[in-house]
Amino acid sequence: MNLQGFLIVLSGPSGAGKNTLMNTVIPNIPNLQYSVSATTRKPRQGEHNGEDYFFVTDEEFDQLIADDELLEWANFCGNRYGTPKFFVKEMIDQGKTVIMDVDIQGALQIKEKIQEVVLVFLLPPTWDELRNRLTKRGKDPQEAIRQRLERSYEELRHIIDYDYFIINDKVEKAAERLHTIINAEWCRVARADLSEIQTLGSHMR
Ligand code: 5GP
Repeated sequence: MNLQGFLIVLSGPSGAGKNTLMNTVIPNIPNLQYSVSATTRKPRQGEHNGEDYFFVTDEEFDQLIADDELLEWANFCGNRYGTPKFFVKEMIDQGKTVIMDVDIQGALQIKEKIQEVVLVFLLPPTWDELRNRLTKRGKDPQEAIRQRLERSYEELRHIIDYDYFIINDKVEKAAERLHTIINAEWCRVARADLSEIQTLGSHMR
């Protein structure tokens, strides 16, 4: 059956474990593609250009906006982040599920343009745990950690705009929940090619 691909946006506080979750899930789900964002943030230790992000200058980001190459973009704690359009469109046309790590502002912009997008909010088990994870990660300066925590409290108010939530207590469990959501979304009648279903029906008469 011919199925149209779709877009899953994963949002949640910095330190909730979005990257770990995606790295766990992506190798195990056929047809699931990660969408690499562009950012003006400097690479953290161990991050690679074109894999984690496309790391661009402020001028290059301005150009992406001017050329209308971004599906959405947002300012987050002093840096800009955006989703390049070309990759997402190509993957959806090929029937793939595209998963992206996008903050709430970006998620809401996408929802306005693409109503069928699936919005998933990832939560840490507790706020203390979130603070611990951000501090232990040791990849952001103290002030950036403070800003990110503050931002997390604000973002939580928007969980109401999301379709699903996952609590990331254990990554394997969170991965299982995300897999379940993806499977359920593939079974939506709205995503199916109805003419094929009708043909199937006529064979059954
Ligand atoms: P980080 O600097 O920790 O990698 O990401 C900071 C925030 O930016 C996270 O909340 C992440 O979801 C968000 N983010 C990453 N890529 C994008 C994007 O393409 N667009 C938007 N709007 N947010 C993004």
